[in-house]
Amino acid sequence: MNFEFARKELTKELSQKGIKDPRVLEAIYQIPRHEFVDATFTSRSYQDMSLPIGHQQTISQPFVVAKMTEFLIQGNILDQKPLGAVLEIGTGCGYQTAILARFCRKVFSLERIEALSLRADNNLKKVGVDNYQLRWSDGTLGWPTPKKFDAIICTAAISQIPKKLKTQLEVHGKLICPVGDGKKQYLLLLEKKSKDEFHETILDSVLFVPMLEGKVSE
Ligand code: SAH
Repeated sequence: MNFEFARKELTKELSQKGIKDPRVLEAIYQIPRHEFVDATFTSRSYQDMSLPIGHQQTISQPFVVAKMTEFLIQGNILDQKPLGAVLEIGTGCGYQTAILARFCRKVFSLERIEALSLRADNNLKKVGVDNYQLRWSDGTLGWPTPKKFDAIICTAAISQIPKKLKTQLEVHGKLICPVGDGKKQYLLLLEKKSKDEFHETILDSVLFVPMLEGKVSE
C-alpha cells in the first residue's frame, strides 16, 4: 500500500468535507496514521472512519480530529503564534496528540487505561514526535499538578464539562469537548473570557466513546 498517496487522497476528502485550514490538512498529510492503528486495520488507516484500538476504544475519525484541531487553532488572539501548553483528555493511541503537537509547544495528554497510554508513547516515539508528556490518570480531575493550558481538547464524551478543566484553562483559551450520552452528542466549544466567564458555542453533532471516571491497568 502506498501510504503517502493514501494520505494525499485523505486530505483531499477532508478538504471536500469542509476542512479549510491548510495547516491542518498538511498535518493530516504528514502524520502516518497507519502507525497508530492495529496491524489488522492497516489497510483501512486512510479511510475517513474511526477504528478499534482494543480495550473497547477507538482511534477517532480523521475528519473529527481535523475539525477539532481547526477550531482550537483558529480565530483567537493566539492564531498567529503557536499555542503553548495544550491538554488532551483521552490519549488513546496518540494520533490526535501527534496532530496537536505540530501546533503547540507541548501537548500534555491524560489516558485512564494504562496499556493505551504506554502504546501511545511507543507510537509517538515511532513517528518522531517529542514535544509531549503522557500521564496515566483520570482526566475528569484535570492535570494532576497545578497547571494552566492555552487549549484543552477532550476526545471522549461527557454529560457536563468537569469544573477542574475549566479552572485549568487560561483566560482567552479554548476548550473543546463532545457533550452528551451514548446516543446524542455535540461538540461544545468554550472560550474563557475571564476567570468565571465562558462563551459557549455548539458545533457539529458527533459520536465519541464515553469519558469514564477512575483509572484502570488493563
Ligand atoms: N485521542 C484519541 C481518541 C481516543 S478514544 C485519538 O487520537 O484517536 C478516547 C480515549 O479516552 C480512550 O482511550 C479512553 O480510554 C479515554 N478516556 C475515557 N475517559 C477518560 C478519562 N476520564 N480520563 C482519561 N482518558 C479517558
